[in-house]
Amino acid sequence: MSTPAPFPSGTILGYPRIGRRRELKKAVEAFWAGSISADELETTAAGLRAATRERLAGLGLGRTDSAIPESFSFYDQVLDTAVTVGAVPTRFASLIQADGTLDLAGYFTLARGEGSSLPLEMTKWFDSNYHYLVPEIGPETVFSLASDRIVRTFDEARAAGFLTRPVIVGPVTFLLLSKPSDAAPAGFSPLSRLDDLLPVYATLLDRLSAAGAEWVQIDEPALVSQSIDTPRAETLGATRFSYETLGRLARRPSIFVSAPYGSLDDALPVLAAAPIEALGLDLVRGAAPDATPNLVADLTDKTLVAGVVDGHNIWRGDLGAALERAEGLRALAARVTISTSTSLLHVPHSVADESALGVELTSWLAFADEKITQVAVLARGLREGRAAVAVELTAASDALAARAAAPGVTSAPVRARTAALTLADFSRGTYEARLAAQDEALALPVLPTTTIGSFPQTSEIRRARARTVRGTLLAEEYRQLMRAEIARVVTLQEEIGLDVLVHGEPERNDMVQYFAENLDGFAVTENGWVQSYGSRCTRPSILWGDVSRPAPITVDWATYAQSLTAKPVKGMLTGPVTILAWSFVRDDQPLGDTARQIALALRDEIGDLEAAGIGIVQVDEPALRELLPLKTKDQADYLDWSVGSFRLATAGVTDATQIHTHLCYSEFGVVLEAIRNLDADVTSIEAARSRMDVVRDIRSQGFDHGIGPGVWDIHSPRVPSVQELVGLLDTALESIPTRQVWVNPDCGLKTRGYTETVESLQNMMAATRSVRARL
Ligand code: GLN
Ligand code: ZN
Repeated sequence: MSTPAPFPSGTILGYPRIGRRRELKKAVEAFWAGSISADELETTAAGLRAATRERLAGLGLGRTDSAIPESFSFYDQVLDTAVTVGAVPTRFASLIQADGTLDLAGYFTLARGEGSSLPLEMTKWFDSNYHYLVPEIGPETVFSLASDRIVRTFDEARAAGFLTRPVIVGPVTFLLLSKPSDAAPAGFSPLSRLDDLLPVYATLLDRLSAAGAEWVQIDEPALVSQSIDTPRAETLGATRFSYETLGRLARRPSIFVSAPYGSLDDALPVLAAAPIEALGLDLVRGAAPDATPNLVADLTDKTLVAGVVDGHNIWRGDLGAALERAEGLRALAARVTISTSTSLLHVPHSVADESALGVELTSWLAFADEKITQVAVLARGLREGRAAVAVELTAASDALAARAAAPGVTSAPVRARTAALTLADFSRGTYEARLAAQDEALALPVLPTTTIGSFPQTSEIRRARARTVRGTLLAEEYRQLMRAEIARVVTLQEEIGLDVLVHGEPERNDMVQYFAENLDGFAVTENGWVQSYGSRCTRPSILWGDVSRPAPITVDWATYAQSLTAKPVKGMLTGPVTILAWSFVRDDQPLGDTARQIALALRDEIGDLEAAGIGIVQVDEPALRELLPLKTKDQADYLDWSVGSFRLATAGVTDATQIHTHLCYSEFGVVLEAIRNLDADVTSIEAARSRMDVVRDIRSQGFDHGIGPGVWDIHSPRVPSVQELVGLLDTALESIPTRQVWVNPDCGLKTRGYTETVESLQNMMAATRSVRARL
C-alpha cells in the first residue's frame, strides 16, 4: 500500500436508512404489492442514499475523506452480507439467476419466504430492538462474491463526488450469528467454515481497493457479546486468524474494525495485535481500553475510533464529558478520532421533524442528525482544542443542567413513594392460599380457555383513531365507537364459549404508546420512527421524567366489558419492563429506579381494576427476555430489578385476584427461574411454533403455577385444525399436571383478520372440549 489516508477525525458507524418520512418502507412495500417495479425501487433507494450523503456532509462529515459510511440496506445488513458472500440456503437455489446473483425479488424472498419455503429466521440484534435475519450455513454452502452491490454503491457515491466508506458485517460476527443449515450434521458450527469464507472478503477488499476505496468498515459486534454459544477461545482464535489474513492482503483499503454494543474485553488485545489500521470501541456501553489493566492492548500503531456519542439513545448528553473521555485515550493510541458508539440505526432521523415536543424537551434531545453535529463538534474539539468548541460545550452542559432542574424530571411525591418501599410491597400471600381463594372466586372449568388480549384491529378502528388525532372525530364519538367494538368482541367470545374474556384492546394504538400517552413523565413523537425489522418501524415514546398516573387508564373500558357478561373479564396492562424496553428511556438514573416508578403507577391501576370488580388482571411482559444484558455478569442485577418491578406492580391485590402475565417467546429455559420469580398465578407463553418445546423445560426444571403454552401460532393466517390442537394439548398434558394448564393462542390477535380468528378460536374450543371429555 502507498501511504494510507488517515482515518477521518469524525464519523458515525451508520445512519437510519428508512427515510425521514419512511420513504424506503413505503417504496419497499409498494414493490411487494406489485405497484412499483424493481427499477423504480432502485431509483428511490439511490435517491435516498444520495440525499443521505448530502445531508451527512451538510452536518459536518467530510465528503471525500471516508467519513460517510455506506450503511444503506433494503431490508437488513446481515441478509446483505449473506447475499454478498453467496450464502443462500439450498431451498432458495431456484432464485439464483444465471449470473449467480439474486434480483431484488429474490433478495426479499429470503426475508419473507415463498410457498412452502420458510424465510430465514429473524432474531434480535444485540441489545437493541432491531432484528436481523439469521443466515444458514452448512458444509454445502458455497461461498463466493455473489453480489457486487457494495462496490456499485461505492461507485455511485464517487460519481456524485463523494469518497465514502463501505460497510460490511465482519466474517466472525457473520458466522457467529449464523445457524447450522438444515443439511448440516449434528454439532456443526458455522464458524468451522471461516477458512472458506475469508477468501470472499479478500476478493471484496481487493475490488473495493481497485474502485478507489481508502477505508472499509468491518463490523464485529459479536465480539462484545457473551450470549453466544461458541466457546470464547474459538471466537478469539477466529478473530486473530481473520484479521491476520485480511490485514496481510497485498491490495486492500485500510481496515476499520468496529465493535459496538459493549466492551471487547479479551478480544481487545487480539484486535490490537492484528494488522488493521483502526479500531472502533463503544465507550458508552463498554469500558475504556485502559479500564482493564490485566489486558495488554498495544494500540500505538492504530487509530482508536472513540465511540463516545451514544448511538443507542436520544439524549443530547454531556458533550464535555465525551470530549474528556476521548482526550483521555490519546496516550493509548497513535491517534484518537470521534465516532458514535453504535450505528444511528436505533434513533429517529431528526429532532427538527418534531413540532409538538415543546422547546424545553426538544433542547434535551439529539436524534441521528443532531448526534452527527455532536460528532463534528467533538472532532473539532479534539483537533483544535476545547476552546474552539467552548460555545457548543457550554450550550450542551446548560441544556443538561436545565434538564436536571426541570419540573417533572423529579417529582417529590414519586420519589417519596419509591423511597418508602419495603420488602413486603414486593410479595403476595402464599400460592396455595391464592389458588384456593381464586378457585372459589372464579370457579373456572379444568383447562380454562382465554386469549392474550387484543382482537383484530379492523380498518374502521384505525380510521376512527386517525380521525380523533386529526380532530375530525369527537372524543365522545370515538368512545362510543370503541364501546361498540368491545360489545361485539365480548359477544363473539361468549358465542365461541371462551371461559375468561377480554375487552379486545381496540382503544390501543400500541401496547406501550397507549400507556405512555396516559402516564406523566412520557412524551410521544410524530416522526420518531426507528426500524424494527425489514420495513417494520416502531415509534418509541420518550420517557423523560418521573412516572406517575394522573388518572385511571383502563378501568372504564374493562368495567364496561365486564358489565356485558357474567364470565370473568381479564383486565389488560403492559408491564414495567416492556414499557421501558420499548421506549426511549431517561439516562440520568438507573433503569431499575425508573422501572419501580412505572410499577407503582401500574399497581394503582391494578388496585382500581380490582376495586371495580375485575377479578383477573394480565400484565404483559413480552420484553422481559429482550432486555437481558449481553454480559453474563450483568444479568443477575437486571433480573433482580426487572422481576422486582413486575412483583411490585402486581403484589398489591388480594389473594382472590388472579394475576396473569404473557411472554412472547418460547425459549423458556434460560429465564425460567426469573419467570418463576414473577410469581404470576398464570403465565401464557409462545409455544406453537416450537411444537411445545417449552413443555420440555417445564418437565426438566419444574414450574408449579398456571401455564398457558400457546397452541395457535398467530404469526400466520393459517387456521390450526382441531386434531392438531388436540395433539398439542396432549403434549402439554403429558408433562404438566392438568390443574396447571390453560388453553390460549400464542399472542394477541391484533394483526389477524376476523375470519381466521373466529375459526381458530372455535377449533381451540372444540379441541379443549374433546380433551376435557377424556379426563
Ligand atoms: N395483550 C397484548 C395483545 O394481546 C400482548 C401483545 C404482546 O405480547 N406482544 O396484543
Ligand atoms: Zn405475545
